[in-house]
Amino acid sequence: MKNIFFTPGPAELYFTVPEHLKQALKEQIPSISHRSRQFEGIFDEAVRNLKSLLSIPDNYYVFFTGSATEIWERIIENCVQDNCLHYVNGAFSERFYQTALELGKTAVALTSEEGTCVAAEETQIPNEVELIAFTQNETSTGASQPLEDIYLIKKAHPDKLIAVDAVSSLPYPNFNFSLVDTVFFSVQKGFGLPAGLGVWIVNERCIEKALQLQKQNKNIGAYHSLPSLLSKAKKNQTPETPNVLNLYLLAKVTGDMLQKGIEQIRRETDYKAALLYHTLDQHSFLSPFVKAKQYQSKTVIVAETTRDSSEVISQLKKDHLIVGSGYGNFKSKHIRIANFPTHSKEQMEMLVDRINALKY
Ligand SMILES: *Cc1c(COP(=O)(O)O)cnc(C)c1O
Repeated sequence: MKNIFFTPGPAELYFTVPEHLKQALKEQIPSISHRSRQFEGIFDEAVRNLKSLLSIPDNYYVFFTGSATEIWERIIENCVQDNCLHYVNGAFSERFYQTALELGKTAVALTSEEGTCVAAEETQIPNEVELIAFTQNETSTGASQPLEDIYLIKKAHPDKLIAVDAVSSLPYPNFNFSLVDTVFFSVQKGFGLPAGLGVWIVNERCIEKALQLQKQNKNIGAYHSLPSLLSKAKKNQTPETPNVLNLYLLAKVTGDMLQKGIEQIRRETDYKAALLYHTLDQHSFLSPFVKAKQYQSKTVIVAETTRDSSEVISQLKKDHLIVGSGYGNFKSKHIRIANFPTHSKEQMEMLVDRINALKY
């Protein structure tokens, strides 16, 4: 029997990936030139499908990088001259903030306890801040910043750029792109693809900022600077030899998701999350780590356990259900469960049954 990966990344592959992989090999996709018409077709298909799936407006660009970690760095290089501000509530948002410091910026962190979010209305944002960074879904704790909080900050500071890490939540959140300037993710979480591809959505304001920094001879990086990504993307190409196979798979999987319908995917995500939280609320030794309902992630559900997490993980593994351990210091105290589009209702019901039957 095959394992089902409920780990929050890398995660279970989207269920159509094996078929698309076979087809890709048949078509010899890994060997085609990234300067060929065929590649341009794949690039174009991936971008069009993503724009349609996530309702990304026409005046936004979609670029491809090696990872989301790379995009943290590129955003800081291309969109910040000196000052940025980060909402920090766990290991991933902390890493985004540290990236800005390491690149020599004056970065300020607004920090809240792990398992919560910084309340948006309480924030004081200094004038000199150029960019505000949110981690919409903090994968280390399962705390999710409500989109309304992000919009509130944007409306109060329309002159500042808003950057949103939505790596472990997309395609679930339905962004109003007119109130965010850049959003990004990598494909091995909710999109159910092999790792090694980052997707970077940006608007004109980000491009203008990068061009302005370039004019002032600031370092905006080289091959993946926004101007270089843009000049190639206009031809449906990338500056480097990209992960062509994964781009092909992304084009196909987003096509499948479009066919299923994003509304259906979001409804099923809500249903499966409700099932899991209900189970944790009733459980004898597991409980949701994120207490405030408005901050409970729908896509990465984190449970506190009064038993060692490794016992829970190994019991579930006997039934081929693979869940994640806690992140960092929480390793033995938490389990983390992904609720991504590939996980069917039946699979989630099976997991919930087994969680209810856990014995010691
Ligand atoms: C996984 C993750 C990242 C890093 O993604 P990579 O593809 O490993 O670079 C960044 N932010 C969040 C919130 C994540 O969950």
